[in-house]
Amino acid sequence: MSHTNELELIENGGWDERILVCRNGQLVQTFIIITQRFVLLVDTVINPQTAGQMLAWAEPYLAEGRQLLVINTHADYDHCWGNQLFAGETAVHPAPIIGSHLSPAMFAQDEAKAYLARMQELEPEIFSDVVFTPPNLLIRDKFVIDGGDLTVELLPTPGHTDDHYSLYLPEIQTVLAADAAELPYPAARVPEGLPQMRASLAKLAALPAETVLYCHAPVTVGRQLLLDNIAYFNAIEAQCRAALARGLSPEVSEDVDVLALVDCAYETAVPDTEQWHNIHDYYKTAGHADQIRVMLHWLAHEN
Ligand SMILES: [Zn+2]
Repeated sequence: MSHTNELELIENGGWDERILVCRNGQLVQTFIIITQRFVLLVDTVINPQTAGQMLAWAEPYLAEGRQLLVINTHADYDHCWGNQLFAGETAVHPAPIIGSHLSPAMFAQDEAKAYLARMQELEPEIFSDVVFTPPNLLIRDKFVIDGGDLTVELLPTPGHTDDHYSLYLPEIQTVLAADAAELPYPAARVPEGLPQMRASLAKLAALPAETVLYCHAPVTVGRQLLLDNIAYFNAIEAQCRAALARGLSPEVSEDVDVLALVDCAYETAVPDTEQWHNIHDYYKTAGHADQIRVMLHWLAHEN
């Protein structure tokens, strides 16, 4: 896909006014949370330009003693490649970058460096200035920021990636799920991530949240998306279990139509509404098939 340096502020759709939602094209949403003590940037988008736009929107609130804090929900490129504005030689507004203790190693991987090099070659106008800057205030387990008027709880929600965190703001019953839930479904990077991802979905759905915002879903879908994602995985699990019971081998080769074998078309696993049908074909075909392969693998190897 091609990327854009544009970032837009989304009109408040009924959530608390202290949360600003930023959108980078069709790719990702990031957030600015304004509390009495801190202004929090939740993720730094894809590069210094887009992170700089977030900083510009945050700057008017950096008054009355408020400090800037940066949070990385996880180390995927669309969430943290603007970090360099806040630490290291490239910093324009030094601030702690809070992230999982597992994240820095992900920046150091050869695959991550190769990915950056490839993106810089493909889209230099977007990625040429990116300098890898891992988070520097590293957390494991739950971490709580007391903003004065708002508490921000950082909750480990692994699955999509090992280092993934979601946010819960109890005073305003608001969850920022990051990539723990997505429309049409979140994807685990590795098979072992699947049970973790489902546990994380259950953990978020159990919170008494009235507002739920996501990085990769329309701001209008609300809390229901958590339940729809849970139902999706339950649906493909049921079909996979039935197929295994019929004698299907769990290791299905890539050239086989796994959707037909398991009898689990995308449409049967998601709600029957426009929003779920009007998505890129990938999610109905190869992406959905990947989820089924991972589910089969997991069911065959559980316990
Ligand atoms: Zn993402």
